[in-house]
Amino acid sequence: MTCNSSANGSRRPGKVDCSLKNIVYIVLLVVALLAGVRWYMQQSAAKEAFDRHEALIKETNECLEMAEWNCAEKNVRALLKETPDDQNLQLHLAGILYEQERYEECIAYVDSRNFKNADLDYLKQKSESLIREIQDLQLERSMHFRVEFEGRPARKDIMEALAVLEVAYDSLCHLFDFHPENKMHLVLYESSQYQGVGPRPEWVGAVFDGKLRIPVNVMQHREIYRPMFFHELTHAFVRAMTRYNVPLWVNEGIAQVIDGSRTGMQRPEGGAPDIAALTTPFVNENNTSTAVKLYWYSQAMVERLLERNASLVHFRDYIQSMRTLGNEEALQKFYGVSSRQLLDEVR
Ligand SMILES: [Zn+2]
Repeated sequence: MTCNSSANGSRRPGKVDCSLKNIVYIVLLVVALLAGVRWYMQQSAAKEAFDRHEALIKETNECLEMAEWNCAEKNVRALLKETPDDQNLQLHLAGILYEQERYEECIAYVDSRNFKNADLDYLKQKSESLIREIQDLQLERSMHFRVEFEGRPARKDIMEALAVLEVAYDSLCHLFDFHPENKMHLVLYESSQYQGVGPRPEWVGAVFDGKLRIPVNVMQHREIYRPMFFHELTHAFVRAMTRYNVPLWVNEGIAQVIDGSRTGMQRPEGGAPDIAALTTPFVNENNTSTAVKLYWYSQAMVERLLERNASLVHFRDYIQSMRTLGNEEALQKFYGVSSRQLLDEVR
């Protein structure tokens, strides 16, 4: 910048002018700088808030998908603070209360909404009928299972199923040194198709599809229901431990090792299945002899893992590391082998 000095030496206005001008410039510069900084901070704060919001939504979806209700509830409540009128979020919260067996809270929440929605009505109605059923059956709330019914199973069968499941649950907690954070969702149903005699293809009886679905008719057949409960409960534990889709041979292999019902069975006739077949869901397999083969090889492969290290806590660490390491890398790290080598060892 330049300053015009005046000829008048005594008052030296030129110098004053000049420093005034300098000050003005400096002030302007500082103001501009501050505005810039402020703008930048606003931008980055907005970006940070946006990123946080996106991360929260991503995590919420994951928790909902994996039925991790504690985490889902915390997140949905946080999102509702941002947008309290979001009906979709309100619907999720009602569903989460329901899934956590908090039926009274669910009903009260639905009643206090100021919009109508068929799904909300359904949740309320279902909560009311579950409260009634539990009262009618004189059931205590189970420690680790959230129970629903299909059909009209007998109280005696329900009580026995729950007692056996609790014992199995404790054993699995102990074996894997793992305590699931959420209650397991159990559907007890009366099955007309299940006769409870003879060897069964597994998917006809009980299944785990996020919920444990158990036909209570089996309660007359101890030799069947014990392995069946242990088997499906193992799947539920694998899910709770990993929140990840582990390869099917790992999942079915460990479930069979724990249920013990097929241990020592003869190798099925014909050649070994390939790795791809052992990795995709078995229930898609319509051909019974192929399915039997897939189950047999799965168990044999997991048995080979446990020969290398018998600890199920080690096994738990292995399946938990799959999410970050990848399936094959985790297998190498924990057991020093590839799935192909394992299959070669048992074929
Ligand atoms: Zn299974």
